[in-house]
Amino acid sequence: MSEVHACKSCGAPVSGRFCTACGEKVLTPDDHTLKHYLGALLNAFTFVEGKFWNTLKAVVLRPGELSAAYMDGRRVKHMRPVAFFFLANFIYFAVPLFETFNTRLNSQLHNQQYSGWAQRKVEAHLAESGRTLEGFKVLYEPASANNAKLLLVTMVFLLLLPMSVLYLRKRKYVSAYVTASFELMSFYLWVATLALSVALHRAHRATGHGHNSGRWLGG
Ligand SMILES: [Zn+2]
Repeated sequence: MSEVHACKSCGAPVSGRFCTACGEKVLTPDDHTLKHYLGALLNAFTFVEGKFWNTLKAVVLRPGELSAAYMDGRRVKHMRPVAFFFLANFIYFAVPLFETFNTRLNSQLHNQQYSGWAQRKVEAHLAESGRTLEGFKVLYEPASANNAKLLLVTMVFLLLLPMSVLYLRKRKYVSAYVTASFELMSFYLWVATLALSVALHRAHRATGHGHNSGRWLGG
């Protein structure tokens, strides 16, 4: 294993088991056995899972640590803050009872201060397009969910402004603020997801009701 050869990925000279330039592993005949392959597959899962739990624990229990570690160059133990944010985003919207950022049409038309205005808008739209309210709902809900996701991403960048004002004198890199924003929004999403899941579970048991997927937050 001592002879030097070119790395298959980046072409840099390699003499050990890994390329020091890009990290590519030098394959041995052993790597091609089924046993090794399955082992690597399992390893990949537990590795990702370990990172996920580390990151979730850090974000919920020790807010700020993920960003600090990331900017400090301690990155292997956690998921990247951006990836973690998009995972949180995905899970948040996979659970259908959250309406904070995604207020449903019924709630818009009946439970909001502006519901009178919203009703007139929808009625005008229905009259103009010839759609039924049900037909409109089918179009509205996914569009509203997409807007809500976009709004969450927008929030990350809106957070940059107060954050940079708050820490103006620290002269940090802009990337430090972006990272902290992603972490803050992840914190919000995970805490909301966890807290609401617990609340739902409790209410479920207390009332013994089957489906209660209505307006939990009252819009
Ligand atoms: Zn390489």
